[in-house]
Amino acid sequence: MVSPTDERTTSPPTGSPPTGSPPTGSPPAGDALQVLRRVFGYDAFRGFQQEVVEHVVAGGDALVLMPTGGGKSLCYQIPALVRDGVAIVVSPLIALMQDQVDALTAVGVRAGFLNSTQDPAQRRRVEAAYLAGELDLLYLAPEGLAVRSTLGLLERGRIALFAIDEAHCVSQWGHDFRPDYLNLSMLHERWPDVPRIALTATATRATRTEIATRLRLTEARHYVASFDRPNIQYRIVPKREPRRQLLSLLRDEHPGDAGIVYCLSRASVEKTAEFLVANGISALPYHAGLDASTRAANQQRFLREDGLVMVATIAFGMGIDKPDVRFVAHLDLPKSVEGYYQETGRAGRDGLPSTAWLAYGLQDVVQQRKMIETSEGDLAHRRNLAAHLDAMLALCETVRCRRAQLLEYFGETGVADCGNCDTCLEPPESWDGTVAAQKLLSTVYRLDRERNQRFGAGHSIDILLGKHTDKIDQHGHDALSTFGIGTELREAEWRGVVRQLLAEGLLA
Ligand code: ADP
Ligand code: ZN
Repeated sequence: MVSPTDERTTSPPTGSPPTGSPPTGSPPAGDALQVLRRVFGYDAFRGFQQEVVEHVVAGGDALVLMPTGGGKSLCYQIPALVRDGVAIVVSPLIALMQDQVDALTAVGVRAGFLNSTQDPAQRRRVEAAYLAGELDLLYLAPEGLAVRSTLGLLERGRIALFAIDEAHCVSQWGHDFRPDYLNLSMLHERWPDVPRIALTATATRATRTEIATRLRLTEARHYVASFDRPNIQYRIVPKREPRRQLLSLLRDEHPGDAGIVYCLSRASVEKTAEFLVANGISALPYHAGLDASTRAANQQRFLREDGLVMVATIAFGMGIDKPDVRFVAHLDLPKSVEGYYQETGRAGRDGLPSTAWLAYGLQDVVQQRKMIETSEGDLAHRRNLAAHLDAMLALCETVRCRRAQLLEYFGETGVADCGNCDTCLEPPESWDGTVAAQKLLSTVYRLDRERNQRFGAGHSIDILLGKHTDKIDQHGHDALSTFGIGTELREAEWRGVVRQLLAEGLLA
């Protein structure tokens, strides 16, 4: 699955080349394969895991971009075992630290974590183990590294490497910004000789550059995998009755399967989960408004039981390693292609066929544009949000292969049509919409001249269809020259025209 192309793999470091031969005292890199087999029970490395491992074992910095499920963890876990000292893993996923540590402990790796969920006695035990060199890996939340006592503790032990997981969280304009990640640039100043490896599944060139700059990874080698997830079928449909549409998807194609349904608001998470349960589907809600113990309990059930559907806001899922998630459904338009790709990437980690399904409609676009207009932050920030939304809309409205468009967004070129997305499987009929666009735009133009009034897309469509609604009669819009000139299309088709114009930026 991970098939890096020449241009994208191991692009040479911008500064001096990484050390060719390991510094004296380092164990030979051949140990890495042994560790992979003996400890983790795998026969061979995947993709460029081996190159990354050898580079970090030898003391080099690395920036690793791999899709979700690509196998990032071993890229730092094996060097952690091969190099002397304790590997410090910075991760924002506090809720998952216990699971990660348990999984490592189960294969005989000595791991611990320090975060805000522990009581003082638990912390002291972990700290003592770290100082005694009795740990291979120590997981820390980024806020921990801002605390002086923690830094003092780290300084008294021996550090094998720093792994910065979910490194895109350092990107201020990205979709997951964590202010504490900005502090991580000091790791290099305090520990100039300790190798650092940053990992993420978010891979636009802009994010990558930002990670390298903000984390001062100027000499790091970049390892960039192909982001294709061939077993995921991408489908984007017009939203009509979203819950009913979702129910048919689950009943017809995914009966008894585990999956995630993303909604924008807490209220719609609750309603959707209730709706599914009322229709005989085992579903649980997850959002930031639930208390921590309910959230943790629902997450545990989702991970351990078979065939549960998690209805969630985007607060759910980062770092969730459940291999058999068979579908990810979005009932609302994601805010960015990055977010969409990361969320859909939680499907099918086991490589088996899975579905990424999104229902979106005009209302989504209007709502999100409004949210951007009223959002806090300066103009540059709002422009950035708008650009992300536009890219997402372009993906929704494309008549090309969705996968090709997605991969191009992440910088992969020359991708052939995939045969496993909705536009490949049922090519949308495309037609010359010039006349329709002209009719719609001139209606909007005429309405826009009534400056004290704002009208929605539905109203323009009613005018084109020549309907006598209350609003049309009240404003005398049946007198407009475009009244009734659009009866050749049905309402749903006109909505398609509006979405296309919005996606093209011809209508705002
Ligand atoms: P990521 O962090 O990139 O989302 P993980 O590190 O969690 O991915 O790995 C995804 C899955 O692939 C895990 O179940 C892991 O055990 C498995 N895996 C990783 N590397 C290998 C390998 N070389 N051989 C077999 N399985 C692997
Ligand atoms: Zn396709």
